[in-house]
Amino acid sequence: MANHFAADVLICGAGAAGLTLAIDLARRGISFRLIEKMEGPFPGSRGKGVQPRTQEIFEDLGILDKVVAAGGVYPPLRQYHENGSYSEKNPIEGADPTPAEPYHIPLMIPQFVTERIMRERLCEFGHQVEFGFQLRKFEQNEHSVVAWISGPDGEKKVRIRYLVGADGGRSFVRGALGVNFAGKTLGARAVVADVVLTGLSRNAWHQFNQGDMAKMVHICPLAGTSLFQIQAPIPLEGDFDLSADGLQGMIGERTGCLNVQVRSVNWASAYMMNARLADRYRVGCALLVGDAAHIHPPTGGQGLNTSVQDAYNLGWKLAAVLKGAPGRLLDSYEEERRPVAEAVLGLSSRLLDAQKKGEMRRGREVHQLDIGYPGSLLFREIGKRRGRLQPGDRAPDAPFKGAGGQRTRLFQLFQGPHWTLLVHGAMLEGVTSRPGLHIHRVGPEDEVIDQWGHIGDAYAMEAGECVLVRPDGYIGAFFDATQSTKLERYLVRLGLARLEAPL
Ligand SMILES: Cc1cc2nc3c(=O)[nH]c(=O)nc-3n(C[C@H](O)[C@H](O)[C@H](O)COP(=O)(O)OP(=O)(O)OC[C@H]3O[C@@H](n4cnc5c(N)ncnc54)[C@H](O)[C@@H]3O)c2cc1C
Repeated sequence: MANHFAADVLICGAGAAGLTLAIDLARRGISFRLIEKMEGPFPGSRGKGVQPRTQEIFEDLGILDKVVAAGGVYPPLRQYHENGSYSEKNPIEGADPTPAEPYHIPLMIPQFVTERIMRERLCEFGHQVEFGFQLRKFEQNEHSVVAWISGPDGEKKVRIRYLVGADGGRSFVRGALGVNFAGKTLGARAVVADVVLTGLSRNAWHQFNQGDMAKMVHICPLAGTSLFQIQAPIPLEGDFDLSADGLQGMIGERTGCLNVQVRSVNWASAYMMNARLADRYRVGCALLVGDAAHIHPPTGGQGLNTSVQDAYNLGWKLAAVLKGAPGRLLDSYEEERRPVAEAVLGLSSRLLDAQKKGEMRRGREVHQLDIGYPGSLLFREIGKRRGRLQPGDRAPDAPFKGAGGQRTRLFQLFQGPHWTLLVHGAMLEGVTSRPGLHIHRVGPEDEVIDQWGHIGDAYAMEAGECVLVRPDGYIGAFFDATQSTKLERYLVRLGLARLEAPL
């Protein structure tokens, strides 16, 4: 039968969530279109904090080094007092990297730079964003979606298997699906602006009138650029002047620093803070990711990170289902990611309250390294295991020595769109290589030599035990030497069937 689909997936919206999903689908060889209603890239810095867990994902997607090189770390927070003096503190509660957690420091990089790097990565896979194309309408049946897309040549109708709404907080897809976006406005409105400014040093994040919602102003040098980002609460009602003169006036009024001059404005926005969560992330063949599914205040720098991780959770599942895995695998997307967003809504709202009292402090809870999916339906049949690490937990990194003598890391084995099976000691009978699964044996005479004991420390595997790591870096399951049939059934259900002919 001729394939009458324009593509398997239509991704609506090329922000951080849509781009992440596109890269993940591209490296899995899934056909998709990525449409964006704007005529060109989004120019704002807004989501500027990249948390440690997102750095791990960026490593897997092949963009971490570019992101680090283009960005930087957060400068010390300089709080000015009424008498003109100031005190400095580190805004980030960091800790040294460990073998299990290689990244501990949130990075700062303007969102427009992160997205540019993502578009470049997408280009390496032969794909690009279709700017100037807007989703206008769609209908779905049990198996597919028909979408009407307007572009430079008018409106066209396309049929796809799945539609992903990565179309931001005001999501058209969410609205058209009739999905409730329950939550509240938080009684706070703020301005965010990227400006060229003189009169302040670039070695500190300048904060004036901390905790006073009528007078607070934060001015942060944007790493990797010559810009500063201004953030300030503004009155709930009324127009706010976002021009250079308007911003200049506000800074002068609130800080008394007459030598601070706003020279030009690259991008600026005034917005109401909301905390809202979609009731459902999936309706038939349509799914929601990123801000389309959840919005919350920027405190704690969680929005972009949560959006990237939604897409990263969805990508491998969508690809597996398109390649024949049962459709209910997609149900685990909402089941795993919605509770994470629910927790982020609470965290960012709490941090907003703390900020209002002048008590802003970001600790491990914003790093997103402790996110896991222990209650997910994907693990229910597997059962618990003795030991600390459980199915659904983030799979730790661990440096080890390769049989060739080279120093390497588990994250290098995990890198790519595949599942990984680490076998400690003897191979499980009958479990063989297959497309989409990489099998590695750990042992003193094997390919993975736990020279420094880091794998043992992190995974505590007994002889004969093996651990299956999902493509998104979470523990899929532990099995022991007696459970090869169970493991085989599990793999087949995930679309990882053996090749017919023996190797
Ligand atoms: C003022 C502000 C400050 C923020 N600060 C931070 C921060 O400090 N740290 C942090 O982590 N996060 C922050 N965020 C949040 C972060 O920017 C978002 O979480 C992130 O952009 C979400 O990415 P997304 O891809 O889901 O949505 P978006 O980035 O909103 O992208 C959605 C895209 O879909 C497109 N689109 C919409 N409708 C259609 C359609 N019908 N057809 C085609 N395209 C369409 C839009 O044009 C847009 O480009 C901030 C957000 C705001 C608004």
